[in-house]
Parts: sequence; C-alpha cells; structure tokens
Amino acid sequence: MNRRRFLGEVVAAGVGGAAALSVSPAYGRGTMKIELPALPYGEDALTPYVSSQTVSIHHGRHHKTYVENTRKLVEGTDLAEASLEDIIKATAGKAEKKGLFNNAAQAWNHAFYWKSIHPKGGGQPQGRLKERVDSDLGGFERLKEELAKAAVTQFGSGWAWLVLDQGKLQVMQTSNADTPLASGKVPLLTIDVWEHAYYLDYQNKRPDYIAAFLDKLVNWEFAAQNLG
Ligand code: MN
Repeated sequence: MNRRRFLGEVVAAGVGGAAALSVSPAYGRGTMKIELPALPYGEDALTPYVSSQTVSIHHGRHHKTYVENTRKLVEGTDLAEASLEDIIKATAGKAEKKGLFNNAAQAWNHAFYWKSIHPKGGGQPQGRLKERVDSDLGGFERLKEELAKAAVTQFGSGWAWLVLDQGKLQVMQTSNADTPLASGKVPLLTIDVWEHAYYLDYQNKRPDYIAAFLDKLVNWEFAAQNLG
C-alpha cells in the first residue's frame, strides 16, 4: 500500500470518517505539498488594487513563514511526508497540535488565496457556477453582498469563503488560521482579511479592500473549477 494513501486513510479514520478529505478537485485529494507555490502572476500584477509591496511581503514573508514553520514542525514525525490537507485533518481540534494546525492551514489557505485572485478578475460567475449561485444563494448580487459582509464583519484576523457544504453553496467566515477543510467543506474561493493582506494599501479601511477584491480581482473561473 502506498504510504501516502495509507496515511490519508488513517487520518480520515482518526477524525471520524464523516470528515473524509473533501478537497477541491482543482487540487485533487490531499495533494498540496509543503512548499511555497510560485505566484500565478507578477508581484505588480494586482496594482492599483493591491500593491506590489503588499504582495511581496504577503507571499514572500508571511506565506513563506507558514510553509517553513510547517516543515519544521513535521520534520521527523509521521506527518513528514503528508500533504497539507492530511496535516490539517490530522491536527484540527487538537489542542496539543495547535501550532502545526495553524501553520499548515495558513500555508493551504494562502496558496488557495493567490488563486482566488486574478489581475483580470471581477465580473460575474458564468455557466454552471452562475446557475448554482442563482439556485442556492438567490443570485449574484446576494452572493456579493454576503461575501462582503462575511469579509467585513470577521472580527480580527481571518478569512471569508465561498464553499460547498453538503453539495450546496454557502458563504462563511473563519477566524485566524481556521479553514473550511477542517470541517469537511469544499472551498471554492477565499478572501484573506488579515490586516497583512491590505493594511499597507488601505490601512483601517477593510471595506475598501473588499470592494476592490470583489469588483476587480475575484477569480470566478477558479471558483467554478473547484465545483468539480
Ligand atoms: Mn495572509
């Protein structure tokens, strides 16, 4: 038996079966390695909505540190060869594994965030995603309002998400490093609302960053791919 597959089964069993890894199809099942992915665009590609300085520090320092910390924490353990998804599942809700959970979840969330953005983003969902938005959430304007509300009202650090929960679209927010993967949902799209994501460009005006994200940067095609 392949070691990674074995580990994945052990991990899934360990968190109670129902939480069997449900990972966005764009990534396959439990396949994100513990590494810093290259940005899918240049550091200056998101200007003027997110500056190159913000992207450089956010990706090259914050994201990189989460990856490095995760690597250090799994070194020499049973999880040394595991994917980020497996590590998240294995450590979610365990007080003694909080440090590893936080770093692995942040590594995963950030890789997902960079793909949730596109320099030519904005617009509206098309095709199957549009149909799902209409039927599950009452239309695009509703979705946009709900995402903006989730992002603006997340108290302190965290994330706003569009997810599939039991096959239905849902908008949600998570605190700090928490990720919908930990509760068996399928992430489709995320907005990072930690201050490091926007403070250099918007200071305390988080709603302005959220508005720019949803009007100019959001990558609906990525969200659609994650529908599977
Ligand atoms: Mn961040």
